[in-house]
Order: sequence, then C-alpha cells, then structure tokens
Amino acid sequence: MSITQDEARKQLHERGLRVTAPRVAVLRVLAETETPLSHTEVLERLGDAGWDPATIYRNLVKLRDAGVAPVVSRAEGIDRYALAGSRDDGHRHPHFACEDCGRVACLPAELTASMSVDGAWATSVQKAMVQLRGECPECLERAGEAPR
Ligand SMILES: [Zn+2]
Ligand SMILES: [Zn+2]
Repeated sequence: MSITQDEARKQLHERGLRVTAPRVAVLRVLAETETPLSHTEVLERLGDAGWDPATIYRNLVKLRDAGVAPVVSRAEGIDRYALAGSRDDGHRHPHFACEDCGRVACLPAELTASMSVDGAWATSVQKAMVQLRGECPECLERAGEAPR
C-alpha cells in the first residue's frame, strides 16, 4: 500500500505531528513495504537522496512514540518498525525472522490464536511480541535448488 505525499501529511496531522520532509519520507517507505523495517532497511529504501541517518533515526523514534510506527519486531536486538495502520491487527501477530537472508515477515495471527489464555497471563500473552526464527520459504527453496 503506497501512499502519496498528501496522505502522509494527513496522517502526521491526525497524530498531531509536525509535517517535515524526513517524516513524510519515512512514513511513505513504511507504508510501501508493509512488513517491519529496521533503521538500516529504511535508509536502504530511501536510497541516495542524501538523508542523514541520525535524522531518519530520530524521526523513526518520533513516529514510534506517537504510535504511528510501533516497534513490532526485535530480532537479534534490532528494532523493526511498522505502520500500525498498515495491517488490520496493527501488527499484533507473530513475525518470522529469517536467519539466512535477515528479512522479517508478518505471519497470520491464527498461528498464535491457540496461545490465548485466561487469568493472570491473559493480557501479557495478548500483548507479547511473538517472534519465530528460522529459514524463510525462499531461503529453503534456494537451499534445495543449490545445495552447498
Ligand atoms: Zn530468508
Ligand atoms: Zn507484521
């Protein structure tokens, strides 16, 4: 789901955030990708437009704090951000981190539906960041095609 400059501006306005060029750029990259991205991955996608990495980082944090782009994955200690509005469930689903290619993908929420519990742990489990690690289907396929 890519968004226009105007849509990005509107989203910032709605959250009471000041509209700045880096903020709009970060928002558009996150909207385009839909899956969670790290600071480095956002920079990669922004390309060589000359963005200062520290500025981009500050804006990611700002978007995170405003609830626009929460951290939804923490594979290998790396925070990955995703637009809360890019998925109906706000990315409250498990994510899969590939140990081979390093990408983080969204998995269907049904995978953890059986984990829902009553009692003391109910809210904790509901809010927990579920992260699976292993090899993604593409890497498995590549490995099968060209065994080393
Ligand atoms: Zn992979
Ligand atoms: Zn997700």
